[in-house]
Amino acid sequence: MKKLLFALFLITSLVSPAQNRLDNLEIITHEVTQNVYMLEGSGGNILIQVGESEVVMIDSQYAALSDKIKKEIARITDKPLTYLINTHYHGDHTGGNENFNTDKVTLIAHANVLNRLTENGKNENFLPEKVIEEEFELSLVDENDLIIHVHHAHTDGDSFIYLTKNNVVHMGDVFFNGRYPFIDLDSGGSISGYITAQKRVLNTINEETKIVPGHGALASYNDLATYIPMLVDLKAQIQKEISDGKNRKEVAKNNSITKKYDALGFGDGFVSSERIRTTIYDSLILETKDK
Ligand SMILES: [Zn+2]
Repeated sequence: MKKLLFALFLITSLVSPAQNRLDNLEIITHEVTQNVYMLEGSGGNILIQVGESEVVMIDSQYAALSDKIKKEIARITDKPLTYLINTHYHGDHTGGNENFNTDKVTLIAHANVLNRLTENGKNENFLPEKVIEEEFELSLVDENDLIIHVHHAHTDGDSFIYLTKNNVVHMGDVFFNGRYPFIDLDSGGSISGYITAQKRVLNTINEETKIVPGHGALASYNDLATYIPMLVDLKAQIQKEISDGKNRKEVAKNNSITKKYDALGFGDGFVSSERIRTTIYDSLILETKDK
């Protein structure tokens, strides 16, 4: 009994703070265009696209927030949800999948999202029914959504979704607006792929495009255009450190590499300045091993 009580104590003390935080959290809706909304809660930003007769949702945050998210969508539109798209497999973007993926909804994502969610033992309602490899054009009554896979960026299963008429793009975690990016090397992400992916988005959109980042505030073309040179600079500096024979610890400690961007607050989020230095270091070492 004592053991059981202790186990119960452990479970409640571990689960409650996060659960409480989500219980008290409010979903904030930002109008992006007349037909497109960005929902901010906890985890990855959600995009809601209201079409002539149907609704497209991109990413689903955490299951614990699904009821609140449903209420918020109902406030925006009474049209039915028909498509759910996942930008990648991480739980803060797919956790609510099974609560939205009804018989009337088609869940779309890259093949590696299906692979990784399956590996993680997720049930059928969590899994994409429509799997994309490189590119897919989702033709709606009044809009075409381009779903484009980018290779080894944040993970090995990232897609960005470009709403061609509304001129809005959801980049998933291929963009952390105003913060250093989390690059999930264990799930196939890489610094070089991340930069290439951002360039691909920049080449697909135009200067008027509004950008929904995976995390952070709604962004502009210019926000992305100025972010890429930062990553290119960090990669080049750390590549030079490696060429000069510096080891991981030395790169981790070398504040001067990121100083300029730390001052702008890039290291204040989920990924600290030390963490981005070690991530890029690890990624570059992995890349040389792969060659
Ligand atoms: Zn992610």
